[in-house]
Amino acid sequence: MTTAILSALPEEQSTLVAHLAHPQRLMHAGRAFWRGELAGRAVVLALSGIGKVAAATTATALVERFGVARIVFTGVAGGLGDGVNVGDVVVAEDYLQHDMDASPLFPRWEVPGYARSRLACDADLSAILLEAAGACVASARGQFGFKPELLGAPAVTSHRAHHGLIASGDRFVCAADEAHRLRTTLQDAGHPALAVEMEGAAVAQVCHDYGIPFAAARTISDRADDTAHVDFPRFVQTVASRYAEHMVLTLMQKL
Ligand code: SAH
Repeated sequence: MTTAILSALPEEQSTLVAHLAHPQRLMHAGRAFWRGELAGRAVVLALSGIGKVAAATTATALVERFGVARIVFTGVAGGLGDGVNVGDVVVAEDYLQHDMDASPLFPRWEVPGYARSRLACDADLSAILLEAAGACVASARGQFGFKPELLGAPAVTSHRAHHGLIASGDRFVCAADEAHRLRTTLQDAGHPALAVEMEGAAVAQVCHDYGIPFAAARTISDRADDTAHVDFPRFVQTVASRYAEHMVLTLMQKL
């Protein structure tokens, strides 16, 4: 059984490639895929690309070309929910496309043809990922020397692993008023999104179509506000790739 480890950003992927036993690089659909083993288990590492279409293409290739049996996705996201701070991790319970709007033909956010707006992640795989995320954030401060205040984020004494809804859309949300609008509009409609990013919902939809388990964890890199673009590159380099490494290696040992 091959597990796909999908990374949103090259920094996360290169950290994992360094751990790969019997690495083999293959090009397909203009993308590099790495076959090998992590913790003695068969994996394919892939980069999602940025945005929903790129991520859907990669996920489809993982299923059709590489025959993976499940997909685990890591990346970064903007925090939307109360108490979802820079340096926390959100493990997705389900996903919604916040830019899907075929109203009045379909209710807002409903994916036409699916009769729902939220697509669930696999409960068992997500539980293992949540456990790995919890262990990671608990040890992060000491282990990585990570201090959010150095990146301009508020100081928090302890980091948390959250579990809940993540919203995806083809926009980098980097304005406080837009983040507030997104959060309250979704919340008022009964969709309390903890975080926003640009790929996960597309992969959730592909996995739903093929009937394979999907789980995703996003490290919070910013609060989707006016400072998001400042925090972002530095955070990815210094923190997110190490979180992804830690979570994926822990998860692979528990599978
Ligand atoms: N600097 C990158 C571009 C990253 S785009 C480059 O040059 O290639 C943003 C990435 O971070 C996407 O993968 C998206 O899923 C995630 N992300 C983080 N914060 C976000 C936010 N506030 N809004 C939307 N996506 C966000």
